[in-house]
Amino acid sequence: MPAANNKSYCSIAKSLVGFLLLFVQISSIVQAQPGSGINMDDKLKSGLAANARIGDYLGSLMDSCIQNGVMGVDFHLYSIPFSDHTDDNDPKFKGEFWGKWYTSAMLAYGYQPEEAYKEIIDVSVKEILETQEKDGRISSYSREKTFDMWDIWGRKYVLLGLISNYEQTGNKKVLKAAGRLTDELIEIAGPGKTKLTETGLEVLGSMSSTTILEPVVLVYKHTGEQKYLDFAKYMVAQWSESNAYTDRGMMLIEDALEGVPPLKISSPKAYEMMSCYEGLCELYRVTGDQQYLDAVERFARSVIEREIMVVGSGSSAELWFDGAYRQTELLEQPMETCVTVTWMKLCYQLLRLTGDPLWADQMEVTLYNALMGAMNKSGDWWAYFSSLAGERMPSPMQVPQCNSSCCVANGPRGLLLTPLWSVMQNEQGPIVNLYNQGEWSVKLKNGHETRLIQETTYPQEGVVVITIEQDGDMEYNIGLRIPQWSKETLLTVNGESFPVTTGEYANIHRNWSDGDRITLHLDMRGRVIQAPGSVNDLAVMRGPIALALDNRMVESAGYNLWLHADGAVWHHKDELGGVDYVLPDTVSESGAVKYIQLNPVKEKKEEVWMAFEVPFLYRYTHFFGHEVRPLVMCDYASAGNGYSEENLFRVWIPQPLFMNDIFPEQTWKILYPGDIRPEFPETSNESITGNSWEDHNH
Ligand SMILES: [Zn+2]
Repeated sequence: MPAANNKSYCSIAKSLVGFLLLFVQISSIVQAQPGSGINMDDKLKSGLAANARIGDYLGSLMDSCIQNGVMGVDFHLYSIPFSDHTDDNDPKFKGEFWGKWYTSAMLAYGYQPEEAYKEIIDVSVKEILETQEKDGRISSYSREKTFDMWDIWGRKYVLLGLISNYEQTGNKKVLKAAGRLTDELIEIAGPGKTKLTETGLEVLGSMSSTTILEPVVLVYKHTGEQKYLDFAKYMVAQWSESNAYTDRGMMLIEDALEGVPPLKISSPKAYEMMSCYEGLCELYRVTGDQQYLDAVERFARSVIEREIMVVGSGSSAELWFDGAYRQTELLEQPMETCVTVTWMKLCYQLLRLTGDPLWADQMEVTLYNALMGAMNKSGDWWAYFSSLAGERMPSPMQVPQCNSSCCVANGPRGLLLTPLWSVMQNEQGPIVNLYNQGEWSVKLKNGHETRLIQETTYPQEGVVVITIEQDGDMEYNIGLRIPQWSKETLLTVNGESFPVTTGEYANIHRNWSDGDRITLHLDMRGRVIQAPGSVNDLAVMRGPIALALDNRMVESAGYNLWLHADGAVWHHKDELGGVDYVLPDTVSESGAVKYIQLNPVKEKKEEVWMAFEVPFLYRYTHFFGHEVRPLVMCDYASAGNGYSEENLFRVWIPQPLFMNDIFPEQTWKILYPGDIRPEFPETSNESITGNSWEDHNH
C-alpha cells in the first residue's frame, strides 16, 4: 500500500503527467447471460457496429484512426508491463495501455470486421492471458507492490479489455480469465481485507482504484455469479464510509443526488470521477436500484451546468474547476482528451439507460468539436490538452515504453463509439441520433431488416435525406433526434409534413415501404452564445459546430470590432439627420437565442473543414461611420490545426474585440510549463505529411 501521499495536485500533475481512463461498451453480439439478479432493459439499444458505414469527413477520420492509429501500433508493447511488472518503476501507469488500446481495437474490429484485425485482437488477448498468474492475478506491478499507485487502475483496464473481447466473440475462456482476475481481487480486497478506497493515490481520493467497479459488474452480468455482485455492492458501500484518506467518505452517490457541484465531490479528478459513475450505471443495470441511475443523471446534469464548455468538454489540469464559468479565461491545461472521451462515454450510458436525446445532443457537440479537434489528421496521435484560445499542441510522449500517452490511448475510444450510438434501436424501431452521410442496417423486432441510407453533407449543411431500403412493406417506428438548438425544423416523409418538437425525438410510426424518403431540414442559422456568468464574451455556433477565429484567415489590425448579431441596429434617422446610428447589442436577454448571418466561404483553405464570413461591426466613432466588416471563422476542430506556434485561434470573442490583440501567443507554456514545446513523435505521420486530412483519406 502506498504511504499517505501529501503531494499537492500540482506536483502530482507534474510527476504523473498523464494517465487517464476510460472503457467502452461494445454492441453486444453475445447477449448478456442474466444471473439471478435483474437486468434492466436499456431504453435504447446500441446499433451493431458492423451494420453501420459512416461516410464523409467523420468517416474518413474514423478510417484514419483505425488504420494508422489503433491497428497501426506496436501492440506487443502493451502486455510487457504485465509480464515484467515494469510499473514497479516510473512511469507507473503503463498498465492502463493494454486495456485502453484493446477496447479501442474491439470497437475498430466491431466496425470493420476484417481478418487482419481479428488476428491482432486474438494475438493480443493471448499475450495478456499468458501473464495471468496461478491465482488469477494480472498486474503490471510485482506482488510486493500490490495496491501501489495505479495497480488496480491498470487491472481495471485489463478487465475491460477482456470483457470487450467476450462481448463480441463469446469466447468463454476469456470470460473465465476475467472471472479469475476478479476472484484474486476479491481475495485481497474483499470484506476484512484491504479496502480499495484506501489504495492508489490519496490525492485522487482513491477514485482510480474504485473505478474497477464497472468491469466487476460486467463480470457479474456475464457470469451470473453472485460473488461478483456482492463485491460490487461492497465497493459501492465503501464510498459512503470514512477511510484513511477521508473522514467524510467519498460520498459519490449522496453528493451527486444533492446536486453538489462536481468540483466539490470527493477528489475533483474529472476523468476518474466520471468513470466511477459509469460503473454505477452498470450496477443499475443489474440491480434496478433507481438511486444509482438518479445519482448519475443528476451528476451529469451538474457537469453540463458547471463544467462543460462551448465545444463540449471540460477540466483544467485534469480537474473539475467550475469551468463553464471560467471558459473565457486563458486556462491551465484545459480539456484533457481523456475527459472529453469519458464525458462522451458517460453520456452514451445515459442515452441508453434513459432514452433522453439530451445526451445525444451533448455527444454530438463533443464529437464534432472537442474530440475531432484533439486528433491529428493522420489518426495516430492526439492532443493531451485543447485550448479555446492560443495554439494546438500534440500530447507529449508520456510513456516511451508503450509508445503512447494517456490521451493518445483514449481518443479512439470516443471516436469509435460513433457506429454504436449514431443509429440505435428501441422496441418500436430504429432511432437516428446522428446525422451524417452513411448507411445503417437495423434488424427489426419482426426479424426483418431495414436499411437507412443518409445522404447529406451535414453538419456542413442542414438538409438530411434518409432513404429506406427493405423488402416489402413493414409497420414500425423511426425516431429522429431533433436537436435542442434546431428551433425551426422541417420534417417530411415522401413530401408529407410531420410535426416536430425541439429537443425530442420525432417519432414517425407508419407502414414503411422500400424507397420511402425522409427529409429533414435542420436550423443551421448562426447562433450567438453568451458566455456564462457576467463576462461580456460571445461565441458563434452553427448547428452543433462552434466557430473560431484563426490567424490563417484573420489579420490583426488597430481597431475594434463588435460581433453584429441580427436585430442589433436601430435607425435614428430623424434625430440624426438621416445617418444610421447603431447601438451594438452585445448582451443577450437571458435565455433568448440571437441569430447571426453566416455566409459560407467558397474558396476556403484546404485544411479547413468549414469556413464562414461572419458580420462584425466597425465603429469609426460611437455614433457615426459604422460599417459591417466580415471576418472569416472556421469550425473549432479545424482551428489551429497547423499545430505550430504561428497558427493561433480563439473561440470566445470579447466585446469589443481589439483586433491588435486577438490571439494569445506562446500558450503552449501554460499547457506545458517548462522549456520544451511538445512535438509530434517521429512515428506520427503528422510530422511527415502536414495537416491536410485529405492526404490520409484512403
Ligand atoms: Zn489523458
